[in-house]
Amino acid sequence: MIEVEVKAKIKSFDEMRKMLDEINAVKVKTEHQEDRYFNSPVCDFAQTDEALRIRETKTDEKHNLFITYKGPKIDAKSKTREEVEMEIEDADKASKIFENLGFKEVRTVVKDREYYKYENYEISLDNVHGLDPYMEIEISLEDNSDYSKAQESIFKLFEKLGITDGFERTSYLELLEELDN
Ligand code: ATP
Ligand code: CA
Repeated sequence: MIEVEVKAKIKSFDEMRKMLDEINAVKVKTEHQEDRYFNSPVCDFAQTDEALRIRETKTDEKHNLFITYKGPKIDAKSKTREEVEMEIEDADKASKIFENLGFKEVRTVVKDREYYKYENYEISLDNVHGLDPYMEIEISLEDNSDYSKAQESIFKLFEKLGITDGFERTSYLELLEELDN
């Protein structure tokens, strides 16, 4: 799958919730997410722009675990990239496998994320612990599809929601790391 995604810093969650309500976007759920990122023993994912993580998600009803691989970004404007995600049963076993293979845990990114649905877009209001408020808009496409139209339409939706700047291609992980240095 290809994820076409654009992220932007926003002024306030409340203001965005109002805008989302105005366009009749539908709130899907609020989820607590804890992402444990790993780095490879053979290359530096910060350099190759890849990612390997174990994600734990919690809503009031559900608790799930996933392994995710993200490939390098494939365009200059957005965060479009290959994504492979698989649900798993046991996070500790998964991290044992990674660690035995030489992968090192880098950092955990914690956030509370509100998901909204609008047409074919998935919109997230991200309260990443330690960062300012961000919003992401994403479209998922089949492998090998042309992502430029999807990307353009995402920027149009941002505009409709009153956001024309503050776009950010740096990952939450790296934004948190920058704060440490
Ligand atoms: P999703 O969109 O899947 O919900 P997210 O929005 O929580 O994820 P992103 O910031 O979009 O988080 O993606 C995680 C980022 O972390 C990726 O862009 C990846 O390249 C980056 N990353 C992963 N491992 C490393 C590492 N070792 N060093 C630096 N950056 C890394
Ligand atoms: Ca993202």
